[in-house]
Amino acid sequence: MLRHTIAIGRIMGIPIDVDLSWFLIFGLLIWILAVSYYPQALKGAPPAELWLMGVATAILFFCSILLHELAHSAAALHYKIPVRRITLFIFGGVAQIAQDPASAGAEFVVTIVGPLASFALAGIFFLLQAPLAGVAPALAVVKYLTLINGMLGLFNLIPGFPLDGGRIFRAAVWGWIGDFRRATLIAANVGRFFGFFFIMTGVWMALRGALLNGLWTAFIGWFLESAASSQVQQQLVQNLLVGHKVSEALGNEGLRVAAHTSLQTIVDEEILRHGRRCFLVQQDGQVLGLLTLHSIKAVPPSDWPSTTAEAAMIPMANLSTTAPEAELWTALEKMGRDGINQMPVLKGHEFVGLLSRDDVVHYLQLLQQLHAR
Ligand SMILES: [Zn+2]
Repeated sequence: MLRHTIAIGRIMGIPIDVDLSWFLIFGLLIWILAVSYYPQALKGAPPAELWLMGVATAILFFCSILLHELAHSAAALHYKIPVRRITLFIFGGVAQIAQDPASAGAEFVVTIVGPLASFALAGIFFLLQAPLAGVAPALAVVKYLTLINGMLGLFNLIPGFPLDGGRIFRAAVWGWIGDFRRATLIAANVGRFFGFFFIMTGVWMALRGALLNGLWTAFIGWFLESAASSQVQQQLVQNLLVGHKVSEALGNEGLRVAAHTSLQTIVDEEILRHGRRCFLVQQDGQVLGLLTLHSIKAVPPSDWPSTTAEAAMIPMANLSTTAPEAELWTALEKMGRDGINQMPVLKGHEFVGLLSRDDVVHYLQLLQQLHAR
């Protein structure tokens, strides 16, 4: 996924990223705390202290969200489901779990631990309130964190996919009807309903005068609705593709260039003249690797005449590949995850073709036309 993110470190081997949109909400939270919450909680405190408290609280809130996501991740790793990364963005956090869970039970556990972590944090901060009763600033911080973690846990339990509550709902439907894909479709449509509900509630609040809260609620609703409807779309595509093999959609053999061809020749004769963007690099009939526009651009143009295709290509060993008998849907998902547009298809070690996203889209259009009749 192409996003503007900043890597901030790794926990349990999982990279933690911060999306630039997150700084907006971080700044907004500090501002609300410093001009609204703390001036009431700590009457008479100097502005510098209010802002400092705002920053400290926002950081602790950020750690709370991270713990929520780490709870999901730890449970996923327990079920041997890889976690690609945790990203913090404008609406909180998301742990990118690399595949769908193997069973309704695993889905339930991986999901429920997130809200449970938030409730546990709310509980801990609540218990800290009594011993900190005499220290006004510390008490104000733990009070706020009790409230916000409790709200975070509750909000996530709303049964609209992709929220945690929606996943739990999907796991329940899945366990009941025994069909993961239909369960996803049902849960995503319920998610769309909640999205619309939030949008309408937000608009109503805004019209009643609560402009900022109303807009924010509508914004969350819009986010929920679009996430859920893209899930519906994805599920419909998957339903069409399921049972079809990579070999069925495989459209082209790929354009081959000899290993010793210079990049300059390829750019002049193939790319500029024929508009081609991707080449198989071969030697003695053997495919050695893939040369893309991207890998050519990585070489400075002044070096194109002296650089061979073999030197600039991505070697076969470093490419994600698929097999003719693999599920088309799985291959498409893999391309999406790795952010690539084509994937060599290998039968054992033998190269049989190049599967591109365009191939899959064309095949999908055919299937759709057939189904439309
Ligand atoms: Zn969660």
